[in-house]
Amino acid sequence: MIEQQIKAAIRDIPDFPKPGIIFKDITPILKDPVLCENINSAFTEKVKDMGIDAVAGVESRGFLFGLSLATKLGVPFIPVRKAGKLPYSVNQKVYELEYGTATIEIHTDAFQKGDRILIHDDLLATGGTVTATSELIKEMGGEVAGFSFVVGLSFLKGREKIEPISDDIIILAD
Ligand code: 5GP
Repeated sequence: MIEQQIKAAIRDIPDFPKPGIIFKDITPILKDPVLCENINSAFTEKVKDMGIDAVAGVESRGFLFGLSLATKLGVPFIPVRKAGKLPYSVNQKVYELEYGTATIEIHTDAFQKGDRILIHDDLLATGGTVTATSELIKEMGGEVAGFSFVVGLSFLKGREKIEPISDDIIILAD
C-alpha cells in the first residue's frame, strides 16, 4: 500500500544531474501531507522496537523524514553533512565516488559512545554514502542499529553492500 503510494508519487527526471542518469525526484511526496504522515508512521512502526538512541540523516534529503522519525521516536536527530557545512567541531570521513572523493562530517558531540544509531536517507543507490556514514559513526564510538530509506534502486545492489554492516534494512519502496 505505502509502497504503491510512494512509487506513484515519485517522478523520473531523465539526464539529471548529468546526461544518462534518470533521477528519482521525491519532491512530489512532499506536496502530499497524508502520504508524508503515512511514511512517518510506516518508519516508526518498523523501527520502534529496535532500541534506537538516535537517527542520523544524510544531507540533504535524509533530513526530511529523518528528523520527523527521530521526533516520533523521541530520540535526537544527527545531521550528517558535506564538508564545511557544520559550524561546531567535527569528525569527518573521506570516501570514494565513481570519479574522485567526497567528505561527510558529524559534530563531535552529536551522540554518546555506545549509542545505537539508525542511519536514514531518502534513497539507497550504490550504498556508498551510508557505508561512509556507518564507518564515521563507528569511528566515533557509535553502534549502527540499522538503515532506513524511502526508496531503493535495487538494480544498483546497495542492499548487498550494507547488509554486512547491519541486516536491519528498511526500504519502504524497493
Ligand atoms: P549512493 O551513495 O547510495 O550511491 O547514493 C545515494 C545518495 O545519493 C543519497 O544521499 C541520495 O539522496 C542521492 N541520490 C542518488 N541518486 C538519487 C536519485 O535518483 N534520487 C534521489 N532523490 N537521490 C539520489
